[in-house]
Amino acid sequence: MTVVSQNARVLESYLAGRWQPGKAEGKLLADPSNGDPVAVIDASGIDLGEALAYGRATGGAALRKMTYHERALMLKSLAQHLMEKKEVFYPESFKTGATRKDSWIDIEGGIGTLFAYSSKARREMPNTRVFVEGPVEPLSRDKTFSAQHVLTALTGIAVHINAFNFPVWGMLEKIAPALIAGMPCLVKPASQTAYLTELVVRHIQASGLVPEGALQLLCGSAGDLMDHLTGQDAVTFTGSAATGQMLRRHPVIVENSIRFTMEADSLNAAVLGPDATPDTPEFDLFVKEVGREITVKAGQKCTAVRRIIVPRGLVGPVQEALALRLKKTVVGDPRDEAVTMGALASGAQKAEVLERIAELTSGAEIVAGGGEADGLDGQASAGAFLQPTLLYCDKPAASEAVHSVEAFGPVATLMPYDDIGAAIDLTHRGKGSLVASVFTNDPNVAEEAVLGMAPFHGRIMIGNRASAKTSTGHGSPLPMLVHGGPGRAGGGEELGGLRSVKHYMQRTAVQGTPHLLGAVTDRWVDGAPGLEDTKHPFRKSLADLKIGDRWKTGSRTVTLEDIEHFATFTGDTFYAHMDADAASRNPFFGGRVAHGYLIVSFAAGLFVDPDEGPVLANYGVDNLRFLTPVNAGDTLQVALTAKEISPRITADYGEVCWDCLVSNQNGDPVAQYDVLTLVAKEWPAGSS
Ligand code: NDP
Repeated sequence: MTVVSQNARVLESYLAGRWQPGKAEGKLLADPSNGDPVAVIDASGIDLGEALAYGRATGGAALRKMTYHERALMLKSLAQHLMEKKEVFYPESFKTGATRKDSWIDIEGGIGTLFAYSSKARREMPNTRVFVEGPVEPLSRDKTFSAQHVLTALTGIAVHINAFNFPVWGMLEKIAPALIAGMPCLVKPASQTAYLTELVVRHIQASGLVPEGALQLLCGSAGDLMDHLTGQDAVTFTGSAATGQMLRRHPVIVENSIRFTMEADSLNAAVLGPDATPDTPEFDLFVKEVGREITVKAGQKCTAVRRIIVPRGLVGPVQEALALRLKKTVVGDPRDEAVTMGALASGAQKAEVLERIAELTSGAEIVAGGGEADGLDGQASAGAFLQPTLLYCDKPAASEAVHSVEAFGPVATLMPYDDIGAAIDLTHRGKGSLVASVFTNDPNVAEEAVLGMAPFHGRIMIGNRASAKTSTGHGSPLPMLVHGGPGRAGGGEELGGLRSVKHYMQRTAVQGTPHLLGAVTDRWVDGAPGLEDTKHPFRKSLADLKIGDRWKTGSRTVTLEDIEHFATFTGDTFYAHMDADAASRNPFFGGRVAHGYLIVSFAAGLFVDPDEGPVLANYGVDNLRFLTPVNAGDTLQVALTAKEISPRITADYGEVCWDCLVSNQNGDPVAQYDVLTLVAKEWPAGSS
């Protein structure tokens, strides 16, 4: 790490396996609170084609050798490592203008996303390298030709072009799903705050926890980066709509159909329900939330509330309450603990926001703030400080600017509506947003507002008194929920749990015989032969058990006494089991039938091997379907086949999913389901 005069660090890029400085003098990045030099950034002369090729070949190959669970555990170790180092990142974050609270969202919020993806991947993905999606689709009656959708990692590189506002979270929320999918990443942070991203990448790289080539960093301009992309690469972009649209139209992106996920401007709305009058908790929650949204991160948040849409009769009370709240904001150097709102990211950003405020005044008037903020001592400050600003637009249906001009700072516009339909129409005027919130305790308002707004939004939060303490808030994207919006918001979709992992994978429909489909997907597929053995599969540990191992049980005839005993024993005396006349009128049964749960219970009685052994627990069944009614006198038999085996990396057992097929004396399927068990890796324990 090179340090130049005046404590400005020369940022380097980590590309092609080495830290590389740019060849030119570079651009000086200053602390927006005091103008102190922080870093110098430049990437000229760096071979970006080499870096992309290196990532694909070195990082991609290393990641694809790992299973989903191994990649997930890598993220967990990385998250633990970064959490231990977190205090190193805060001082650097203050230099971006962020307060400690703002930095917490960026730093610990980002690390939390790694933890969340790690645990989601281990819970929702198998410990394999191929992801099977959806059920097997039988394509022939005799089950000799079927199909299965599978997802495999793209063999290219994921290029993440990020915005200046969240230098840590912005990187981590994007690399987490890409790395889980098995794709190496090249991160290009926005220049203005790249020094914080660079510091985090230095710690990641030094930890040795991520395979070489799996994470690269470009500090400085993107140069000819886009020219070297291929159809197996993927690009995500967060930033201004203008840059995003320009990159989306890049000839290499268009010609190669390269996946391009964009998250751009968004004029997010908060709607106060007509029921939420000043005497209700919803009114207070609304004011608190909107006030917070204006000031957190000095309003430089893609999800921040820009439009405050309230019943016409409540404009006065809302304006008064919000203005009072904003007045309490202490603006200043984020290192000062008394400060509740820091600086904008740069002087240029401050100038830009002031310009946008001026544009907004074409259709709205400033009712609070509106200008530069003084220093804490009351003296004019050279820092990039703005007053939290509230505008009021009396005729929002007739104004264009309040729905189209995004002032990316502590700025929002209050506007009235006459009925909830008009409020919904106003939200649509944003032409697609990341998020909206509606504050109401009325289920009818919630239904009408959410269904009316949903086609224009990626996320909608309903705020009311019952979730006042637990709500995660309007502005927080969560790893498990979709983050992105249609239209103006960019049309992209990030996070959303496994949805974003799939963005880095190719979905392929594979057709073939069940036997070969099973070989491809590492699971037994219905229609494939089973491996019959004289040893009961419940006597086999994971060391012995094989996919396809099958046990055909003896048989058991169901009697009327069994049905009546089960009915009185469990209390389930439903007429179809107990009343012959009523059962005969039932369109499906035509007479008394056995309980479904009796069939499942008898099936367990048939397939279970009772002695202590490697099967440790049955933790549920999936996909249970009753297919043919069972009458007294019918004889049941079970075929139990080991369908999926997933040994855990961090435990001495694993999951085994068994296909359980119950048939009657005619060979008709009576019930089919997946039995989910935990099985020891060795039995007796420690035997190998
Ligand atoms: P930009 O669109 O200018 O930059 C976003 C990213 O794109 C940065 O990493 C930037 O790098 C990069 N970039 C710029 N030009 C190119 C190019 N030709 N090829 C490849 N990459 C390029 O946005 P800003 O970060 O400057 O923010 C400007 C405005 O964007 C804000 O005022 C706000 O309105 C909006 N914004 C919206 C966000 C959202 O999530 N909705 C988040 C942040 C900003 P570099 O910095 O090196 O130029």
